[in-house]
Amino acid sequence: MALIVGVPKETYPGERRVALVPAAVPALTGKGLEVLVEAGAGAAAGYPASEYKRRGARTAPSREEVFAQAGVILQVRTPGANPERGADDVGLLRPEQILIGFAEPLTAHEAMKALAGRRVATFALELLPRISRAQGMDALSSMATVSGYKAVLLAGNTFGRLFPMMMTAAGTVAPARVLVVGAGVAGLQAIATARRLGAVVEGYDIRPAAKAEVESLGAKFVELPIETQEAQDAGGYAKAQSEDFYRKQQELLGNAVAACDILITTAAVPGKRAPVLVSEEMVARMAPGSVVVDLAAERGGNCALTVPGETVERQGVVIHGPVNLPSDVPHTASQLYAKNITNFLLHLYRDGAVQMDGEEPIGRETLVTRGGEIVNPKVREALGLPATPAAGGRS
Ligand code: NAD
Repeated sequence: MALIVGVPKETYPGERRVALVPAAVPALTGKGLEVLVEAGAGAAAGYPASEYKRRGARTAPSREEVFAQAGVILQVRTPGANPERGADDVGLLRPEQILIGFAEPLTAHEAMKALAGRRVATFALELLPRISRAQGMDALSSMATVSGYKAVLLAGNTFGRLFPMMMTAAGTVAPARVLVVGAGVAGLQAIATARRLGAVVEGYDIRPAAKAEVESLGAKFVELPIETQEAQDAGGYAKAQSEDFYRKQQELLGNAVAACDILITTAAVPGKRAPVLVSEEMVARMAPGSVVVDLAAERGGNCALTVPGETVERQGVVIHGPVNLPSDVPHTASQLYAKNITNFLLHLYRDGAVQMDGEEPIGRETLVTRGGEIVNPKVREALGLPATPAAGGRS
């Protein structure tokens, strides 16, 4: 019997993405898998049920039916990444069912325990190793790309001025000055987007490697006279720094922040609260009418004044704290996510089953729960569990 891949509608409040788009269906059916989509799952992203059917998927009228029939469930937000509604799905999952999607595995401890308790095999896409072979599965990068782009549009919509320099019969308009702090995937996309709109752009990152990337996009790299030791881990992610470092960084970044019109912050350290890089005093030095878009809001924010999920104004400076920007570009975000998750699933799918015992890093490093246990060493460490599950015991 063919393995059925189920795609439920996302239930996180305001979530408009869908894990699989119609164009991605043939890649799965072509390998002998069946696809079962909950009715209306793609509607908010602009993918009607008729398109899924045309591409070879079946649709199910209820969520329960998708969970009951499918051997593999694909979601954007699995229960760990869906704090408000995810628990409802835990009850629908059954032993040995495979769940793939974002899961917040390092912080959503209760959800990880609950999934282990249901004996579900959960793969968390956040844990994908950043190796070139896995690039086509890198959903975090895809979503960061969308966020970086959308952050600039959000800023532009709030900003009372134009981005490019313009010489008109009515006089010359000065270009907007944009500063992007954190030049990873989202930051670089924000830099590229702001440049395309004609702004004068500066970028800063703790990782020295980011300088060349910032400059290659036509932006200026902000150099801070501050020593960073081991700014980067083996996976290319930034490492957490000392309190003293962050204090010095704030001091030195102050002038660049005060001089910009639009500040976009994206700095993150995996599994940790985002570092606070912009203090209240730094915002006070920004000119009224300036705009901050804090893409780290979901992780607590890079700006001390950010309120996650809200837009606030302080002394004439507007501070946006969006928590789910990719959902505001649901069509493209879903298209990219679907490609990533399909590549991931097909990478693990061999001989009619999803392979979980291989030593290859992609499957091994993303597998979080299996057989009643939390099996992932990083997640076990984050939960304060012993390094390996006790034989026969429960996590
Ligand atoms: P991220 O979302 O974890 O962090 C965003 C950025 O914030 C990073 O560039 C980080 O260095 C920066 N940052 C953290 N603390 C900071 C601080 N105190 N001050 C200033 N900046 C700070 O990172 P990301 O966007 O996911 O990517 C991180 C790196 O991984 C990048 O070099 C990226 O190119 C690389 N990457 C590699 C692959 C691959 O090889 N397959 C895929 C994606 C990303």
